[in-house]
Amino acid sequence: MTELEFPVAPPRTDGALTEVAPGVLWMRIRMPIALDHINVWLLRGDDGWTIVDTGLPTDETRALWERVITQNLDGAPVEAVVCTHFHYDHAGLASWLGERFKVPLYMSLGEFLMMRMFARVTEIVLQPEERRFFAQAGMPAERATRVFAALGSDPFLPPRLDQFRRLRAGDVLTIGPRRWKVIIGEGHSPEHVCLYSGQDGLLIGGDQLLPGITSNVMVNAFEPDGNPLALWLESLDRLERCRDDTLVLPSHQKVFRGAQVRVQQLRDHHRQQLETLQRRLAEQGECTAYEAMLALYPHLRGAANDLMALGETTAHLSWLRHRGLIGRRLDPDDIFRYNVTKAAADEEMHW
Ligand SMILES: [Zn+2]
Repeated sequence: MTELEFPVAPPRTDGALTEVAPGVLWMRIRMPIALDHINVWLLRGDDGWTIVDTGLPTDETRALWERVITQNLDGAPVEAVVCTHFHYDHAGLASWLGERFKVPLYMSLGEFLMMRMFARVTEIVLQPEERRFFAQAGMPAERATRVFAALGSDPFLPPRLDQFRRLRAGDVLTIGPRRWKVIIGEGHSPEHVCLYSGQDGLLIGGDQLLPGITSNVMVNAFEPDGNPLALWLESLDRLERCRDDTLVLPSHQKVFRGAQVRVQQLRDHHRQQLETLQRRLAEQGECTAYEAMLALYPHLRGAANDLMALGETTAHLSWLRHRGLIGRRLDPDDIFRYNVTKAAADEEMHW
């Protein structure tokens, strides 16, 4: 296979359900943001349904779930909710669904804790470490202030989660006739759950394997020396081992075949970004993360995009730095400047 295949037409976003494999239903939920929908999955068990991912915490989404669960699921109850990761389009209604239908919530520990941490995001953005991260990246104070304001006033902030059931790498969830093995992805979120049925060649990929967009991989202020791109690339290696004919059920866009092709496209994308940064540094000698961001993303609009772009640029700079291909210096003005190291200047990047 050299190209992705999209064998299933997507359902409408009004609660319509499309069966993508026996007992596996695809529902699309509208979202009032640039990424205008999320895919969620309903898995038929012996006695009821398991919901995978929830949509954003809005009245419209709650009403949609009420209607679908009471009218469209053959009268069988909801048994459980699984969230692939903590981002609010995936887990924003986890606590509501759990309380409303009295069902357990399955997540990884990493995602559960992140969700609890971000329930206090308004306190987090006031921390001096948070502000220093942006200042040290060289982002002008005015622009950074806009980012904090956006972070601290997220309209989709869900309530704090209080309890969960833990999913770990290699765990198996048996739902109806099917065994789903947990594959953990890192880099986009700390401990992202994918569910893989090797028997049927089905992968619920979450945001780890999207067909037409690249998931945000960012360095965060709370882990400023992290190397999330290395974690992300390692995760792609794990997903590449799925069966050739695996039908990938991604969280956004269309269901597709061609996991290996997509993995390679994503690797190529990140390699290009890394090469662009290396070339720029070789030409200019040094730059801040903010200047590198403007080079990679010259047409940014809005504070949320600034946040993701700065984090993503820093993730690429960090990958190069952890490899010893570039260096970093904290100048007396408390801004990090990246530069080409002497040893790496003539060396080809090994991939
Ligand atoms: Zn996500």
